[in-house]
Amino acid sequence: MRVLVVEDEPRMSTLLERGFREEGYAVDVAADGPGGLWLATENAYDAVVLDAMLPGLDGFEVCRRLRGAERWAPVILLTALDGVEDRVRGLDAGADDYLTKPFSFAELAARVRALVRRRSGARPAVLMVGDLRLDPALHRAWRGDVEIGLSPKEMALLELLMRHHGEVVTRSQILDHVWDFAYGGTSNVVDQYIGYLRKKVARPFGRDDIETVRGVGYRLRDPVPG
Ligand code: CA
Repeated sequence: MRVLVVEDEPRMSTLLERGFREEGYAVDVAADGPGGLWLATENAYDAVVLDAMLPGLDGFEVCRRLRGAERWAPVILLTALDGVEDRVRGLDAGADDYLTKPFSFAELAARVRALVRRRSGARPAVLMVGDLRLDPALHRAWRGDVEIGLSPKEMALLELLMRHHGEVVTRSQILDHVWDFAYGGTSNVVDQYIGYLRKKVARPFGRDDIETVRGVGYRLRDPVPG
């Protein structure tokens, strides 16, 4: 999952960035309205956390222009004012949800997870593909009854493959959703992490269900029925 945080208060921004990274998300940060609008227009984010009061363009306007440009990433608006008017304005500008400051990071993270689920139709809170199970809220994964210890990036990569099980996920899709702008390396990192995943979730269980699609990317194979 890749998240954009648009927030001008450095302390809040750092807090959110750190929080999402600890959740295993890729995070980009903008400190003003125009910067946020540009990033959100150029990249496919899984969620945008948008402060209402921003220099340059306020959050309402950023959201309105984003929707005007047909960018549909889920937006959570952060408002400092506990006013009904502000919330109505935000939702009418195209925001999907709002949170009033001060809020707990745990609640923001849960709302982001809910938005990501809602966006792709009927999606269970716990992902299951065959005997693989992953709980994004708890950051835990299992093969059958055996829990698998994964690093945050490995967890994010497995989550992406599970959300698209049976489909090819390209290297650039993986880079876009699991890594962020701060990452300056090459796409070799994707192959490297696929290797780590296979070592943890496939090989010890005698499986080979993370398939390489030569020249394109990877696919988590659907389980064969029976
Ligand atoms: Ca602000």
